[in-house]
Amino acid sequence: EKEKHTEEIIKKKLYKIDNKLMVMSGKGGVGKSTVTVNLAAMLASLGNKVGIIDADIHGPNIPKMLGIKEKGVLSTSEGIIPFEPIPNLKVMSVAFLLKNDDDAVIWRAPLKHSLIQQFVSDVEWGNLDYLIIDLPPGTGDEPLSVTHIMGELDGSIIVTTPQEVALLDARKSVTFSRKINVETLGIVENMSGFVCPHCGEKTEIFKTGGGEKAAKELDVDFLGSIPLDPQLVANGDEGTPYVVKNENSPVTKAFQSVAEKI
Ligand code: ADP
Repeated sequence: EKEKHTEEIIKKKLYKIDNKLMVMSGKGGVGKSTVTVNLAAMLASLGNKVGIIDADIHGPNIPKMLGIKEKGVLSTSEGIIPFEPIPNLKVMSVAFLLKNDDDAVIWRAPLKHSLIQQFVSDVEWGNLDYLIIDLPPGTGDEPLSVTHIMGELDGSIIVTTPQEVALLDARKSVTFSRKINVETLGIVENMSGFVCPHCGEKTEIFKTGGGEKAAKELDVDFLGSIPLDPQLVANGDEGTPYVVKNENSPVTKAFQSVAEKI
């Protein structure tokens, strides 16, 4: 009975959300959260209403990257009010529920499932053009939970770096996406070359073009490449998305071009 009630609530909430996307990566550290945050901020600055669910239960970095230091959430009769660190960008994260930043989170699968469910059913998202779900790396229980809870998703975005090993993982993510019936919107190649700030020359630290090649082989779209830029680290650490701070830079334009494809 309760389960049915929750299902009804979720249906009602999802009705008000146009595009439900998930961001995946084969492994950690490839910049999945960085891409999620900057893509979401870019979509918001292009006039969309955007929500992020930080479902990366073991490394919830999204709040830090958006400068949200508060713990706890504000609950009203309408539900939990998500944080809105920049206009038109709402965020809900497991980090808000942890007492200490380095609390080890040892969640069992059923608990993770009900947490992700609550992030949809109990949060007052309102009308959204995009709801972006940042998943933990790999192909664990969480993406399954997300599709189970949300029914149809509109697509997945796969973040990879250009090395062969990372691309192998990206292939796994595409296959996994297919298995759970989520259309792969495309691959983003992150950390794709480094432009020297002193001489302007581009160095391919992790090779380049692998993401595009993998996309071709797997018959999915290539959404674009984001270069290595130390400023992305600095802005992430200080809690302002790069694309908000650096309006017309080539990296911001790269994010804009990805945003326009999804
Ligand atoms: P993931 O979510 O895949 O674990 P993060 O987004 O946390 O990865 O990124 C890992 C680290 O790499 C962070 O310190 C981030 O600032 C940095 N990083 C991500 N993308 C880039 C980039 N294009 N250029 C430079 N540093 C980056």
